[in-house]
Amino acid sequence: MKVLIVDDQRSMRIVSSSIVKGLGHDVIEVSSGQEAIEICQGQKIDLILMDVEMPGMNGFETTKAIRSQSSVWFPIIFVSAMTDSSFFAEGIRSGGDIYLFKPIIKEVLESMINAMHRIARIQDELHDTKLQMELLAHQDALTGLVNRRGFDNAIDLDIRQARREKSPLTLILMDIDHFKDYNDHYGHQRGDECLQEVAEVLKKGACRPRDIVARYGGEEFCMILPGTSPVHAEIVLERVMSGLQKENIPHGRSKVSDRITMSSGIAELAPGQSAAELIEAADKALYLAKDNGRNCYVIHTD
Ligand code: GH3
Ligand code: MG
Ligand code: MG
Ligand code: MG
Repeated sequence: MKVLIVDDQRSMRIVSSSIVKGLGHDVIEVSSGQEAIEICQGQKIDLILMDVEMPGMNGFETTKAIRSQSSVWFPIIFVSAMTDSSFFAEGIRSGGDIYLFKPIIKEVLESMINAMHRIARIQDELHDTKLQMELLAHQDALTGLVNRRGFDNAIDLDIRQARREKSPLTLILMDIDHFKDYNDHYGHQRGDECLQEVAEVLKKGACRPRDIVARYGGEEFCMILPGTSPVHAEIVLERVMSGLQKENIPHGRSKVSDRITMSSGIAELAPGQSAAELIEAADKALYLAKDNGRNCYVIHTD
């Protein structure tokens, strides 16, 4: 663990520090509340040993400030010469977890740090589980792509970011051609496998870390390309279409090719446009691509 020791008295810091290091943890020492707050802003601290009486900000005020600026919990142990129970209560109220009295008894401090370490580990596991569950809730089970719910969240966030950064954003909607006939001819099981193969091609096509590839619905996919104008989106889409061609998935009942193909609509985020309006623009372009004979794309124009 990375342990922050906050005490205005150097001799106290030396004692605490040697105990904490003896347990195998890393130590950062500061002598004021202000410094402690700055350290917590700059890096992840796993536990704090906090003095109460210090010139300037006292330990209670410092703890309140640190708790209010951090969304994740980590243990804070007060170590104080003030043994009055009202101080004890104030310490817990301000956001501390344990209140120990000075002078420090090595065995007591060691045990408390070990106990807090145990709780911190449980909290880390919970946090990881939560992230994992959020990921699964936004993942399409068949293809592993972002699902519709994830897409809805992402497009809102990406539109806001594009506005803030004054950067372009392009949306591509893609729809497999004559997929109903594919299912009817090869069966639903083979249809599912085809969707997985197409999804792999799409994943390879979108290279930037902020690009999002989602399964929009049944046999419809989409890409959100932040920081990308339609000319560059075309390059991405052409990469995807030639990837699909290389994949060479036979489609004996397609009216446009003997292989699986798709049609796409490209739309760039216009000033003041909502997510729904952007999707509608891309959808119109996709409709035109279908109308133009499929296995092609259209860029939306007003
Ligand atoms: P178009 O070229 O106009 O897009 O024709 P289409 O046949 O692809 O379009 P349509 O919307 O008529 O049919 C889509 C088909 O996609 C119907 C449905 O059975 C199939 N489909 C949707 N979701 C899934 C799925 O999860 N698995 C499988 N195997 N098929 C699916
Ligand atoms: Mg002090
Ligand atoms: Mg469709
Ligand atoms: Mg289709």
